[in-house]
Amino acid sequence: MCAVIDNNAPRLFVAADLPGPIPLDAGQTNYLRNVMRLAPGGALKVFNGRDGEYAATIEALGKKNGALTAGERLRPQTPAPTVTLAFAPLKQARLDYMMEKAAEMGAGRVVPVLTQHGQVRRLNKDRLRAHMIEACEQCGTLSVPELVDPLPLANLLGTVAPDSLVVADEALAGARIDAVDAIARARRPLTVLVGPEGGFSEAERQLFATRAIRVSLGPRILRADTAAVALLALVEAAQQSVS
Ligand code: SAH
Repeated sequence: MCAVIDNNAPRLFVAADLPGPIPLDAGQTNYLRNVMRLAPGGALKVFNGRDGEYAATIEALGKKNGALTAGERLRPQTPAPTVTLAFAPLKQARLDYMMEKAAEMGAGRVVPVLTQHGQVRRLNKDRLRAHMIEACEQCGTLSVPELVDPLPLANLLGTVAPDSLVVADEALAGARIDAVDAIARARRPLTVLVGPEGGFSEAERQLFATRAIRVSLGPRILRADTAAVALLALVEAAQQSVS
């Protein structure tokens, strides 16, 4: 059986190799059955971050589990984005939002960074990953950003080359800097860093003053979650100005 795929077909991130049998877990089953109101024979698209995107048909849909079969390949896998978003962890709702936006705005990797004024130190990685997966399902990308374990700011500065690290520094708010040009000239692969709600400390600012490219995001002080979106938008603009 091969269902007809249209552009509005739901997209699902799956763990299974593609093409091949695709078991559904309880969350996926609930989503297809109770949220999307689909039934056996229903059509969707699936991707796993490795094998591209496939058409799939619902084979079985029980109360707690189900199965899909993969049909034709719709798109080959493309390389994952190379931009890393480094961020100071925020409280839950804003962090959920930031993870969703990181995936939508094309981050390939997200790195929680512990800073002096950051208030949040513990992270629920499964929850953050679930937000990124949902964003990827919705926005059509083929790769889910990698989420790594938190590391102190000094370690980040020690591992990223100064000419490939771009820091959004609120102390420069309103400064006349062409951020797109500065980012376009930075070395790839890029890491971009957004500070915590409390901002960077003076000691941290001195640390990255000589070890990063500092940019302004405009005249207003943005919330950290907004700043991440703005910074990734500048990266996208810079990408287009060099390609
Ligand atoms: N409490 C701080 C603001 C922190 S904003 C203060 O009042 O100064 C949180 C983070 O967003 C900052 O650390 C920075 O990385 C980024 N950010 C917000 N607005 C910015 C701007 N206009 N320019 C550069 N970075 C900004």
